[in-house]
Formats: sequence, structure tokens, C-alpha cells
Amino acid sequence: MRAVVVGGGIIGTMHAVLAVEAGYEVLHIERDPIPLSASVRNFGLVWVSGRAAGAELATALRARQLWEEIGSKAKIGFRAQGSLTIAQNEAEFVVMKAAAAMSDAPERGFRILDRLQVQGLEPVLQGHFLGALQCTTDAAVEPELLLSGLRAYLQTHSNYTWQPNFEVVDFYHDETGNHVTDINGRKVSGDLMVICPGSAHQGFLSEFFEGAALRRVHLQMGATVPFGASLNHSIADADSMRYYPAFKDLALETLAPQSEVAAAYKMQLLLVPRLDHSFTIGDTHEYVEPFSHEILEAPYDHLRQVIASIFGSPAPTIARRWSGNYSQSTNSDLYFRRELAPGAVVVTGGGGRGNTISPAIAEETINSWPK
Ligand SMILES: Cc1cc2nc3c(=O)[nH]c(=O)nc-3n(C[C@H](O)[C@H](O)[C@H](O)COP(=O)(O)OP(=O)(O)OC[C@H]3O[C@@H](n4cnc5c(N)ncnc54)[C@H](O)[C@@H]3O)c2cc1C
Repeated sequence: MRAVVVGGGIIGTMHAVLAVEAGYEVLHIERDPIPLSASVRNFGLVWVSGRAAGAELATALRARQLWEEIGSKAKIGFRAQGSLTIAQNEAEFVVMKAAAAMSDAPERGFRILDRLQVQGLEPVLQGHFLGALQCTTDAAVEPELLLSGLRAYLQTHSNYTWQPNFEVVDFYHDETGNHVTDINGRKVSGDLMVICPGSAHQGFLSEFFEGAALRRVHLQMGATVPFGASLNHSIADADSMRYYPAFKDLALETLAPQSEVAAAYKMQLLLVPRLDHSFTIGDTHEYVEPFSHEILEAPYDHLRQVIASIFGSPAPTIARRWSGNYSQSTNSDLYFRRELAPGAVVVTGGGGRGNTISPAIAEETINSWPK
């Protein structure tokens, strides 16, 4: 059977991987010469620690398993490096201790570390902190290797074809199957079709998004120059607990208010050490459109201050800055899936967990296809 996957981001590419491995003939289409959207602008985190208890955590844990398998086959820089969420005062540490006592803490791989234990793992952390919440199930991939690495793996399969520079402008279904066309009238057809457009909610898809519980979110990010010493865990500050649903029932109200800048830009610090020893850092959250067209400096000053206070040394210089948008489901669904016609679906809306759960989303689609 022939499957057409539209969208070269991580959701589309994971569909291609699982469909090719399941034996479907896959044609994978992308608008740009190489994908340039959310999936190359993110932290590359496979972030289990923040997932809500229940279905969201179960999906993330299944996805984490799939990431490990795929990471052993494709050169994507997958590493099970875990994370440390740093407590810089007693109130933050108390909430982290409560997180480590949650009933699903063992599944998440949560453990409380005191300052000396943190420094035993990461001697470079010499700043102001009391301890950390460690999460051993968190992992990371390299956003700059991820999509090209997966496509290189896919191209070792004779049932895979990559077709960039094909911007879909129309979709239709008839008795012969599902079809998409581009502006020049080129047509691609398949028995099965999955459209993964990320935050491109407009255009030919707008009718299918009518009434959808979806929004777009805009974020600012950065990458530092290589850091002079090794760091083996992703790092988060305690503000991250305000944004991740895993912590929503804990005593967050006992935390001191966020700093003015962090509150204004809805910030947390996430810091991911890259293979070249630079750090990917972020982020901000803007929820109301139209989004700012400018990259604002105040959030970077804040991130560098927090890094300096945790490391006890000046934060490395920021070498690159960018922003990105993701599509986020605004109801209790983990992501958005809607049937366009028999055998054809649109899938997006994974939000800030889209990279994390992408293989599990793809698995759900492929499991629903005729064998
Ligand atoms: C700054 C930032 C940080 C993030 N950090 C993380 C993180 O660390 N961990 C995590 O789990 N998630 C993270 N996320 C979320 C995650 O990146 C997204 O949920 C995920 O990448 C979405 O993947 P996607 O394939 O749906 O969309 P995209 O990556 O946007 O890909 C969609 C693709 O479809 C193509 N396309 C669109 N329309 C058409 C068309 N008409 N024809 C052909 N092609 C089309 C686009 O060109 C694009 O390449 C982050 C997001 C951002 C923006």
C-alpha cells in the first residue's frame, strides 16, 4: 500500500519511519528544500519529567522507548542523559521533594539529590543552589542532526522516497484514493495519507481546522558558544515546574513570585548541552497573535543571569538567537488528529511536547492503517 506523508518536521518524519518499517511504500513530501520549522528550532528534548500523570506520561514513556530504538539505528545524537531541575531556595526544594514522592515518580526516574550529589554528577555546577530533582528518563537528540539523520536512515530503505520543494495547496479524495496537488498542478496520490503541517494552520487546511481546539505559540531561543567544561545533564530551573503539568497539584503557590522579566515573557530556563559542548537555551512563551516580529534582548539577559547563578561562573556568550512557533492542542487531547476523508488524516498540535511524543503519535496512526 502506498502512504503519502506531508510535512518533513518530526511528526511527519516519525510517521515515515514507522510506516517504512511496517512495509508501506512511503512518499514523503515537504514544502521547503529542507524542513525549517519547529522541529529544527527546538531543544531536542525528550522530556518525560514534566508530563501529566496518566495518559500523557504513558504516551511519553512509550515514545521514550521508541526514541531509544530509533536512536540506535539512525544518527540523531540520541542520548539518555537525564535532567537536573535545580532548587535555588528552600521553597523550591520542598516542591521538588514532593515531586519525588509522587506515586509515579519511580516511572519517571525521579530522585532528589543534595548539593554534593549534584556536584558529584556535574562538578561544573558551583553556583547558588541547595539540590536538584533528577529525572533519569529524560533524554535528548540533536535538532541539527535529527531530521537529516532520520532521512538518511529512511533512504536505506527502497520503499522510501523524499520529495522536498512540494508545497501542498489542495487535498481531495475520490474512489481511487487520496490526492494532494501543488501550485503547478503536480499531483501525488496514495491509499493512505497523513498531513503533518505543524503550525501552518492556514491555507488549504483551514477548512479542516475549523473549530479545532488549537493555538499557535511563539518562543525565543538561543545557543551559546561551546562551554569550556563538560556537562552531561539537561538543566532546568525551578520556574519550569510552573509550566509542566506533572507538577500542577504540588504547592506551587509557596514558590516566590517569578522575576519580573521571567513573568512578563512566561519564561523558564531549559539548557541542553550539545555534542559540540555549546548549550541550547530558552525559552519564552507568547500565546496571543499577532506575535512579535522582533527578537527581544531582556529574556536572554535573564537566562544568562540564571545560568551564572547556577554555574557560579559567567554564562557563555550567546552565539545564535532565533524564534519558533508550535501548534498546541488547547483541550485535554495530547495532540490534534482529524480525519479528512477515508484513509487521510491531519495530525498536529503536540505543543511543547511534540518532539517528545512524536514516535508514539506516529505509532497510533500506523496501527490504525490496514495491513
Ligand atoms: C522553540 C521551540 C522549542 C521546543 N522544544 C521542544 C522540546 O525540547 N521537546 C519537545 O518535545 N518539543 C519541543 N517543542 C515542540 C516541538 O518542536 C513541536 O511540537 C514539533 O517539532 C512539531 O513537529 P511538526 O512536525 O508537527 O511541525 P514542524 O516541525 O513545524 O514541521 C511541519 C513541516 O510541514 C511542512 N509543511 C507545512 N505546510 C506544508 C504544505 N502545505 N506542504 C508541504 N509541507 C508543508 C513545513 O515546511 C514543516 O517542515 C519546541 C518547539 C519550539 C518552537
